[in-house]
Amino acid sequence: MLSLLADANQRLEKALRYVAIPEDAIERLKFPKASLTVSIPVRMDDGSLKVFQGYRVRYDDSRGPTKGGVRFHPSVNLDEVQSLAFWMTFKCAALNIPFGGAKGGITLNPKELSRFELESLSRGYINALADFIGPDIDIPAPDVYTNAMIMGWMMDQYSIIQRQIIPGVVTGKPISMGGSLGRETATALGAFFTIQTLLPKFGQAPQGTTVAIQGFGNAGAVLAELLFKAGYKVVAVSDSQGGIYASQGLDIPSVRHTKEATRSVQAVYCQGSVCNAIEHSVVTNAELLELEVDVLIPAALENQITAANAHLIKAPYIFEVANGPVTSEADAILAEKGIQVIPDILVNAGGVTVSYFEWVQNKSGFYWSLEEVNQRLQDKMTEETEWIWATAQDLAIDLRTAAYVHALSRLAEAIGAQGTRKDYIK
Ligand code: NAD
Repeated sequence: MLSLLADANQRLEKALRYVAIPEDAIERLKFPKASLTVSIPVRMDDGSLKVFQGYRVRYDDSRGPTKGGVRFHPSVNLDEVQSLAFWMTFKCAALNIPFGGAKGGITLNPKELSRFELESLSRGYINALADFIGPDIDIPAPDVYTNAMIMGWMMDQYSIIQRQIIPGVVTGKPISMGGSLGRETATALGAFFTIQTLLPKFGQAPQGTTVAIQGFGNAGAVLAELLFKAGYKVVAVSDSQGGIYASQGLDIPSVRHTKEATRSVQAVYCQGSVCNAIEHSVVTNAELLELEVDVLIPAALENQITAANAHLIKAPYIFEVANGPVTSEADAILAEKGIQVIPDILVNAGGVTVSYFEWVQNKSGFYWSLEEVNQRLQDKMTEETEWIWATAQDLAIDLRTAAYVHALSRLAEAIGAQGTRKDYIK
């Protein structure tokens, strides 16, 4: 398999066939602008010292300060962080958000750390990155296994270092520290708006549409509930431990309720606080991907659908809520089978869109209502989804390539507008 960044670059190469871009811009976009690797010492609860590896990559800042999440996961490495930063660059351009792309991460299993150790690690990460980030330079946000609490610690640590309160340095913060209403549900809601915009074009109505979702976290679980409430039949969900399948459909609020209480996904129907098991089968994460459903939603990690299993996928529509769940080799196999893949840089862009709204609110010091945030999110997701759909129709290309073409033209314009400055000054 290709390295993640090489695989990500394949998408760029393909899109370049359909859009006229100056050679200089193409050359610049092949490489990250800056990659930082740091060692973070943490005093553990038992008195021992442990050193963790952290990363931050700023891929391209032609369109504005760079923006991207921070991931805490055992498989975090520089290649992964670089490719996630690459995707962020194209995501922000595709959505016309005035940010470049970045990403960060620390290699660890956060479930093995106490809350105090996690806080020391998060603050240590910001100490190590303090000269690399800033509200007008690079703005971190949550990603896999990081949340509002961790973002709050990070913002607080940066403010301590700078000796002033700087809420705009991190997004996805607790509301009480300058977070935006609607940020926690933004990725799922953005994906929901994209699904609602595109499925009718394929003649697919919510009632009778079956859905399987891999990953039941911030993005996957909230989206499952939105789809359930809109009348879709969510028949399978999974987390890192495995999944459940019920052909009659799952009662998603009940599944979420027990997941919150027990930390595991269970096929249950709850009335009040009493939850009873319903008829279901247990599926592995690999089996979930191969189910006969109308819509498949990978919402966990990258590289889930590869050349090894793409021929086994049966769902005609795949909405990528996770970043990079389908490899470029798998793309080709799925296209041959007539499967439509709606790309991550569009589907999961709701998160960065509301992060942008949060940053705007922090800068202006004026905070919006939840209705205002969600309405602006809906407008943006619907408008850019329609643009990408129209580009795909005009050029007779797949939706992923159309999203890259759409983003590339905006990126090339920004790089071109800077003239030769970058060659000489930076
Ligand atoms: P999360 O930590 O809240 O949830 C991750 C979920 O994936 C959990 O249910 C976990 O159990 C499950 N999981 C982990 N390893 C798995 C495996 N091997 N197989 C199946 N499931 C597994 O993370 P999240 O914020 O929901 O992010 C999920 C995906 O969405 C990631 O790819 C992330 O980059 C992407 N994303 C998230 C946001 C956001 O705002 N949260 C924004 C854009 C993209």
